[in-house]
Amino acid sequence: MYELTIAQAHAKLQAKEISAYELTKAVLERIKAVEPQVEAYLTLLEEDALKQAQKIDQKGDFNKPLAGIPVAIKDVYCTKGVKTTGASKILENYVPPYDSTVVKKLKDAGAIILGKVNTDEFTMGSSTETSAFATTKNPWDVTRVPGGSSGGSAAAVAADECLFALGTDTGGSIRQPASFCSCTGLKNTYGRVSRYGVMSYASSFDTIGPLTKTAEDAAIVLEAIAGVDPKDATTVDKKVPKYSQLIQNDIKGLKIGVPRDFFIKGIDSQVEKITRDAIDKFQKMGAEIEEVSLPMTKYAIATYYLLVKAEASTNMARYDGIKYGHTTQDPKAKELADIYAHSRTEGFGDEVKRAIMMGTYTLSAGYYDAYYLKAAKVRTLVKKEYDEVFEKVDVLAAPISPVLPFKIGENVEDPLAMYLVDAFTTPINLAGICGLAIPAGFAEENAKKLPVGIQILGPQFGEETILRAGHQFQLHTDYHLQKPVI
Ligand code: GLN
Repeated sequence: MYELTIAQAHAKLQAKEISAYELTKAVLERIKAVEPQVEAYLTLLEEDALKQAQKIDQKGDFNKPLAGIPVAIKDVYCTKGVKTTGASKILENYVPPYDSTVVKKLKDAGAIILGKVNTDEFTMGSSTETSAFATTKNPWDVTRVPGGSSGGSAAAVAADECLFALGTDTGGSIRQPASFCSCTGLKNTYGRVSRYGVMSYASSFDTIGPLTKTAEDAAIVLEAIAGVDPKDATTVDKKVPKYSQLIQNDIKGLKIGVPRDFFIKGIDSQVEKITRDAIDKFQKMGAEIEEVSLPMTKYAIATYYLLVKAEASTNMARYDGIKYGHTTQDPKAKELADIYAHSRTEGFGDEVKRAIMMGTYTLSAGYYDAYYLKAAKVRTLVKKEYDEVFEKVDVLAAPISPVLPFKIGENVEDPLAMYLVDAFTTPINLAGICGLAIPAGFAEENAKKLPVGIQILGPQFGEETILRAGHQFQLHTDYHLQKPVI
């Protein structure tokens, strides 16, 4: 039962072939069986989830597509009365008094919250290794990372420890783990889904989206969580289309651009081949393929890291041991400034400290013009380039990660190598557009199958089209159906 997609489970729940209780129980048993190897969850709400399921069963109303569907939530979404840590020691014991808008929407839709899953600390990272609490493993090869920062979400979906999960994508954190774990991951247009109650990394980049087993499921979840929110002024008052119906249309004549700047020297040869094969499949399905050029791509990493670290340094300022978070017990901290410094030194991990130092530097009076302001201008140019390309093509198809899922520990000591992994995901966040990660095949290393995904990119508010392309691709392929042996 735990292998079901949302769409399949919904049909069975509605037909009363299964109950929400049975489904939740099956998923909880699956979690018990595989968690020792995967370590995706930071907090498991076993009893509470079963109680939620019983309530839904008693009501007996399964008309809403998420009623009775068990979900895992990335541990940066505030959940009322349930510990929410951001995978940071500084919030180790934080219990929010309110729900983030998206969690509230899921609850209202009848979804069953299974628990909170691991992430890089405050979502800063690409491997989930910067978490203060656990190292999540890739279910396809437990010696490798699941990607990040939504690595807990991706691993939980891939190992069937939930029917879907929520993630966040600031610079690739939904798409890259989806690629590493062979799930579907939707990075929405900035402003499509409310960020209210989700811990900020870089507020002008952060986006909210699901990791699912299929593109159809991603469409179902988006319908439930999208829309304007008075509590988040950056959400846009735009009608939420019936994504799950629109994706049923075929893609004959869809113009797919292939950006040549994503096929650079250094890209893993298996990644390149799998991406090109997937594009050929789209062509066979009736799409028109055209090579396009996005020359600003090479500046994306530098621009992205300058801007997000600047925003992060201000967002992290609120954790000072007084207003929020861990307060030092060190008797040497006597004055207020000492309490701040000690609490933050003890509470934050290395990657967050790096962000604060880099960001404070680029925002300082002497360097602001040279770094922050320049990067902000380049961001505008990146966005312009995407706007222009979407006048010629409907969507783009591109690789997600230049490398295969790497070994745990491989990049930890080399932050620059870790940042370069994001070369193909960060431009999309600079432009504020949408992207869908879908499984596209498997590479082989030392006789192990390693997942490779591709991303379908769309213009702002083009979710309907990328979900349709993804769904149609999945009707013609079976990569998304393959399961890790765990
Ligand atoms: N790895 C990137 C970073 O650390 C992206 C993270 C994210 O999307 N949250 O900035």
